[in-house]
Amino acid sequence: MELKITCIPGDGIGPEIVAEAKKVLNVVADKFGHTMRYTDILMGGASIDVHGVPLTDEAIETARSADAVLMGSIGGDTTTSPWYKLPPNLRPEAGLLGIRKALNLFANLRPAVLYGELRGACPLKEEISAAGFDMIIVRELTGGLYFGDRKTTEENGVRKAVDTLVYDENEIRRIAVKGFEIAGKRWKKVTSVDKANVLDSSRLWRSVVEEVAKDYPDVTLEHMLVDNCAMQLVKDPAQFDVILTENMFGDILSDEASMVTGSIGMLASASLNDTKFGLYEPSHGSAPDIAGKDVANPIATVLSAAMMLRYSFDLDREADAVENAVKQVLQDGYRTVDILSDGCKRVGCKQMGDLLAERIR
Ligand code: NAD
Repeated sequence: MELKITCIPGDGIGPEIVAEAKKVLNVVADKFGHTMRYTDILMGGASIDVHGVPLTDEAIETARSADAVLMGSIGGDTTTSPWYKLPPNLRPEAGLLGIRKALNLFANLRPAVLYGELRGACPLKEEISAAGFDMIIVRELTGGLYFGDRKTTEENGVRKAVDTLVYDENEIRRIAVKGFEIAGKRWKKVTSVDKANVLDSSRLWRSVVEEVAKDYPDVTLEHMLVDNCAMQLVKDPAQFDVILTENMFGDILSDEASMVTGSIGMLASASLNDTKFGLYEPSHGSAPDIAGKDVANPIATVLSAAMMLRYSFDLDREADAVENAVKQVLQDGYRTVDILSDGCKRVGCKQMGDLLAERIR
């Protein structure tokens, strides 16, 4: 199979971690008989330095013509970098918002996995972390409260602000379909999170999710109120497989879920549209404090590449091979500095990429 991938190395540690993800993908290609065709584009600060804007139309077109996009991370030190003296629409992050919008990436996937070897980093009590967890949060990304009408007014000296939470059934249906399809590739359980005891938008959410569930009889659906879900994530995270939720709830819950893993350098993410196309990137930022030092953990980006194999290319065996290589490297005691603990062998970014590649070969 030929895989056309646009790469966005980006800023800070971005180029280092993308290089390691490519190293791993190239070994997957050799082993399983695929051809990788990469095209790099500039985005964020790297694009500002060359073109004066964080994303050009040409870069969007290059991304659009690929099957998937693999990204490192964008942005610089927000207090010292000259990029942050520019108006907001010309800063690095505007590039990311621009590409998500241009490619209609409405589904955000954030896995939160607690690896046995990294249990010590989990901030939860030992009896909870001992069970481990492996969940994925499927968050609606382009609707709801963050995109509804908003205004601030003043009446008789009293300031008043209003934000609007709007969803139509089509927006709910397309994200629900993604949630059920992803659950079908995992343990076949969807927990749909809403606030249906209070909000009309949540009652519509619940009813559309139930309609979609009828097309996936092998997937179990349960509903959970968002306040309860926030508690369950720290009380019993092992119960979750796919958490399906709207934009604001997903924003908050996905950060909570990633924090309970305790390992920012391990967390992958993806944003998908209604085709197989997706943009895959680590959940962390560009870590300018450690850029260029060969100490960054490339695993979040490597795991994002595994998600790309699974969700954009339906190459489940290949994705499994990458995920298993990560588990093996951890079992063998290798750690980058961010996940280092007593008795483990410290390695840099490049060596971690080499170790992962060796285990796939
Ligand atoms: P950050 O995630 O870049 O860094 C937070 C801390 O985690 C730092 O100490 C960093 O060294 C460490 N860290 C992050 N990734 C690591 C890795 N792979 N290996 C080892 N250590 C790692 O967050 P920040 O410092 O708040 O943001 C830095 C820049 O990244 C900002 O410009 C911010 O806007 C940008 N950012 C970009 C994205 C994105 O591209 N999607 C996301 C978040 C932040």
